[in-house]
Parts: sequence; structure tokens; C-alpha cells
Amino acid sequence: MNLRIPGPTPVPESVLQAMTKQMVNHRGKEFGELVQKITERLQGFFQTKGDVLILTASGTGSMEAAVTNTLSPGDEVLAITNGSFGDRFAKIAEVFGAKVNHLSFEWGQPVDPDAVRRALAAHPRLKAVLLVHNETSTGVTNDLKAIAAIVRQHDKLFLVDAISSIGCIPLPTDEWGCDVVLSGSQKGWMCPPGLAFVSFSQRAWAANKTARMPRFYFDLGRAKTILQKQQTPWTPAVSTFYALGVSLELMAQEGLENIHQRHARVARRAREGVRSLGLKLLAPESCASNTVTAVYAPSGVDPLTLRRTLLAEYKIDLAEGQEKLADKIFRIGHLGFVTEADIDKVTAALREALPRLGYRPAASAVPKS
Ligand SMILES: *Cc1c(COP(=O)(O)O)cnc(C)c1O
Repeated sequence: MNLRIPGPTPVPESVLQAMTKQMVNHRGKEFGELVQKITERLQGFFQTKGDVLILTASGTGSMEAAVTNTLSPGDEVLAITNGSFGDRFAKIAEVFGAKVNHLSFEWGQPVDPDAVRRALAAHPRLKAVLLVHNETSTGVTNDLKAIAAIVRQHDKLFLVDAISSIGCIPLPTDEWGCDVVLSGSQKGWMCPPGLAFVSFSQRAWAANKTARMPRFYFDLGRAKTILQKQQTPWTPAVSTFYALGVSLELMAQEGLENIHQRHARVARRAREGVRSLGLKLLAPESCASNTVTAVYAPSGVDPLTLRRTLLAEYKIDLAEGQEKLADKIFRIGHLGFVTEADIDKVTAALREALPRLGYRPAASAVPKS
């Protein structure tokens, strides 16, 4: 199986094997040492001297934790969105009672930093800014460095969903001044689902002191306190911790810089591959993601039929388009445990399958974005 969705992602054999290990006491010394080791490694990959807390949850749990641990009902936030995960972040803030100002961009286009600057100037009472670094639904990587600089100038709390970017695409948390940065074990970390990661800056802890949104399972203050004993507040996904211990070791051996370069190479290969078939990408090249590529199905070819054909005949599992893009695009995930060879198989399968589904590269007009 060539699992080419943006999470869960394939896992190396040694990481899978780690999960067959017997349970241990999650309040004992052996597990505590694992918690400490993993936490330090994550701080390295997040490039932060701040805290990194590990939650037993999917990525969405970390989004909820980011909101409820820094904000109070009635707080004004700016939710920047250019895809379905940005909308989800905004929705969570709204559900917990924040006053949400939306700054929305077309799906497939990047966030415009100048528009962020104008929005911040227009809303002086904002407490926080919410952004998705890499919009997995559209394959767009936003210019986080530029946006972070603007948020810092205005001295707002900055909550960043980096669930499908950090560990794959450069994101120096402290250098760029991101207060809360989120990820999930099943994205770029070569690990199964089950754990989510949250980095917290000093500014985020200061906000936490007065934040009154309801929280219990995701109380990060409680998580920080018990981390001093190398423990988590509640029973963690012990087997996923075992797996993460091994996958972070593999990542440390490869080195963060090399991992970034590999993702850049593999993503370029994916984009060149689909373009060589005459297909059109959703995202402009300037903001194309290094972890997921969104591709327009050519006119006359139903993306669902295409994905079903690749799965049945080539054992390649591509991701669907989300919401309003469902009948327009398909997505190729290329994050974590992935090489150019995995992508070349996708291109080769598309080359064979598309003509059988009615695609004629020269004659067929590719839809306009
Ligand atoms: C996958 C993803 C999420 C949600 O993660 P779950 O683990 O499915 O809850 C949120 N944001 C982004 C950008 C993602 O890629």
C-alpha cells in the first residue's frame, strides 16, 4: 500500500515494532524517562526553549487546548483562514465564546501579510491571532515568517496550527515569535495517530494566568505541573509514546535540515510529476506546500473515480478534496516517511489510469482556478 494522504502517514517498520512492547506503569521511572527524552527531542524539532506538552489526542485536541488555555469568553480574536482547517480553528474559538473576526482568503491562495497588517490595525482590541501555517486542505503554505513579524509588532498572542508543517517545513518557533505551535503524531513524525504536541511561550503562560475558558482534560497548566514529575495528567497512549520514541530517534539521525530538504525535493517531484501529465495544481508555485499537493482533476474525470481506480488497481491511496473542493481536486500527501520513489509510483499510475478514464491531455481543457 502506498498511503498518500496527509495523515495518517506510513510508519517505518522499527516504529511499528516498538508498539508491540508490553505496557508499563505510566507513573513509573521507565515511562518517565521516555516522556523526558521525547519532550526534549520535540523542543529541538520545534526549535523552542519553551515548554512542549504532549497530549493524548488528535491534532484537533491541540487546537482546542490552544484556544481554551489562553483565552476567556468574550476575548476578541482574528481568525485568518484560507481553507477548512483555518475554518475549524475559528469555529473552536467561537464555540468557546471568543468574539471571532474572520480574515478569509480564497481556498488555494495564500494569506496576504499586508491584509493581516491592515486587520490588526483595524482591530486594536484583539487578544490573539489564529493561523494555520500549512493549509492541508489546499496544499498552501502561508508565509508564517512575515505574518509572525506583523503579529509581534502588534504584540498579540499568536496561535499557530502547524499540524502538517512542523518537522517537515521550517518553523523556528522562538525565532519567529510564535506563542503556541501545534502538531500531531500522525503527520510528519513517522508515527501512528494518538498524540498531539503543543508548544507554549512565556507570553502564552502569561495569558494562561487570566484565561477563563472552560477546560479540564486539556488543562495545560496541569500538564506542565505534572511534567516536572515526567508524567502526563491522564493515562497517555503508551504504545504511541513507544513509537514516537523510535521515530524521533530516526528523525534525529537524519537531522532537521536534511528532513526539510527531503520534503522540498519530494514535493518538487510531486508537482513536476503531475504537471508533466498536463494536470493543473490548485496552489500557485510560490506558496505550494512541501507536505501535500492539491491537484485539479482534469475536466471530464471525476476525482472520486480516479482515486478509487488508483486504490483498486495500484494500491495507491490519495486524499479527497474537502468541502467545496470535493468534486474538483485530489490531494497527494508527502510528509514524514516518504521518498521520491513513492511519488514516482503515483505519477506513473496517474499516467496509466487517466487516459482510461477519458483524459486526453492535448484536447482536454483543464479547469481554471
Ligand atoms: C490533520 C490536521 C488537523 C487535524 O488533525 P486531527 O489529527 O485530524 O484532529 C488540523 N490542522 C491541520 C493543518 C491538519 O493538517
